Amino acid sequence: MKRKIRWTIGISGLFLLLLVFWFSPAQGAGAKKVILMIGDGMGPQAVGLAIYYNRFMNGPEKPLHMERLMAAGNTGYCLTYQYGTVVTDSASAATALASGVKTRDAIIGKDHDGRPMKTLVDIAQQQGKSTGVISDTRLTHATPAAFYARSIHRDKENEIAAQLVERGDLTVAFSGGAQHFVPAGMKVEDHPDLKGIDKKAGWGGSKRKDSRDLIGEAKSKGYNTIANEKELTNMNTRTAEKVLGLFSASGFPSAIDRQSHHQTGVPTLSQLTEKALAIMNKNPRGFFLMVEGGQIDWVAHGNDVASVLHEMMEFDRAIGVALAFAATNPETLVVITADHDTGGLALAYSNYQPPLPVQLPSGETWKTKYNFGGKGIFEKMAKQKKSFQKMLRDSKGDPAALKKEVEINTAFSLSEEQAAAILAKDPRTGYPETKEYKEFYVSGLNTSMPLMGRLFGKEINTAWAVGTHTHTPVMVFGKGPGAEKLRGLLDNVDVPKIIAQGWGASLPAPK
Ligand SMILES: [Zn+2]
Repeated sequence: MKRKIRWTIGISGLFLLLLVFWFSPAQGAGAKKVILMIGDGMGPQAVGLAIYYNRFMNGPEKPLHMERLMAAGNTGYCLTYQYGTVVTDSASAATALASGVKTRDAIIGKDHDGRPMKTLVDIAQQQGKSTGVISDTRLTHATPAAFYARSIHRDKENEIAAQLVERGDLTVAFSGGAQHFVPAGMKVEDHPDLKGIDKKAGWGGSKRKDSRDLIGEAKSKGYNTIANEKELTNMNTRTAEKVLGLFSASGFPSAIDRQSHHQTGVPTLSQLTEKALAIMNKNPRGFFLMVEGGQIDWVAHGNDVASVLHEMMEFDRAIGVALAFAATNPETLVVITADHDTGGLALAYSNYQPPLPVQLPSGETWKTKYNFGGKGIFEKMAKQKKSFQKMLRDSKGDPAALKKEVEINTAFSLSEEQAAAILAKDPRTGYPETKEYKEFYVSGLNTSMPLMGRLFGKEINTAWAVGTHTHTPVMVFGKGPGAEKLRGLLDNVDVPKIIAQGWGASLPAPK
């Protein structure tokens, strides 16, 4: 009998030990608080552009936040191909990053057979964590949507908006896209809870086909709503529980067009990140926050390099906020990655205006046939004050007005004939068109932008491959518990798997 008891104690002791062994690595290694930051369209070229700009303009002693993070060593590359194809779309890439599954283009939150999949937001909530999404595009746009919604097509943004409000369980949702939340026939600026949306942020009519007032529905589920920078700043994060922030009808204005002198009333990505962290950090069980720098992609589709630079700096400042938070909250994992590259940007050498020969101290003369691009290219980029899109919009199709817009807002000039060529519509399609690689400029209406990019490219040693996405593997890097797993060659589906694993859960999993 005695012997049997000792045996039992021995076995249960061993079992206990095994249990401890089994569970402690997963729980001990995991991060209670996770901030996943996605630069949409942020290929390594865009990262390099931002780093080089900062080096040449500000010197190596003031590295970017992302640069410091990469240099710390938890840095890798991520393959981005989607289900069955080499190049990915933002919806499938976001689904890969949210659910750990490869799917077909345009699909949100479902696998390639249409099965709804569990996301990092779902797992975080099961564990009692707070959850949040931030984007400077629209709340219903592909990247944020893939973290909370399921849809066969990313364009079903009205349905996606309804899903967000119906689930009603995100603590923080900050973005644009108010046009999908107000009833059909209403202007966003006329909605009683969105009166604060600044005109320059982008007013506009509802895109809904029904009379649902999703803002009202969200309020009945306990949400407070805010609509501009002031309301965000005045919000008391100590008492705020659930906050829905819709700051523009559609996407935010480009970062270059919402610099302080443009006074758009739209908060920056860093202001949004800071507030979201303060709200969610009240939960003792931690949180999961996704922050998207969503417009790197948009301006890269338009081959507008100076605007890409502004989007990158905007995103980097938000990374700085996340890192500052992590510095005082050591249980925080910060992960930075991209969904794909957009545009195939190249800063390249050319035979345009090679520099003059230089007499060296050795007595020799140094001569070059080529222009390898010096600080001057960044100084020219820095002179751009508006996005190509805004210059085109503000010139309303008039070549003389476009010529003036370019002269006022950039380091470049163009003749009225060149301006006319940029605006000229192809009689066959009714859109401006590039002369070559037409098939890679799929958004006909916006082709004037890449035409501007091509015209000014030689002045700033800049060339673009396409107006769409490329296969280029993207970077991934991070800091905090579990970040050491971000080293080497990864696949985009590995990113959420690593995060889920830290929480003792596993992805992919059906919803
Ligand atoms: Zn894109």
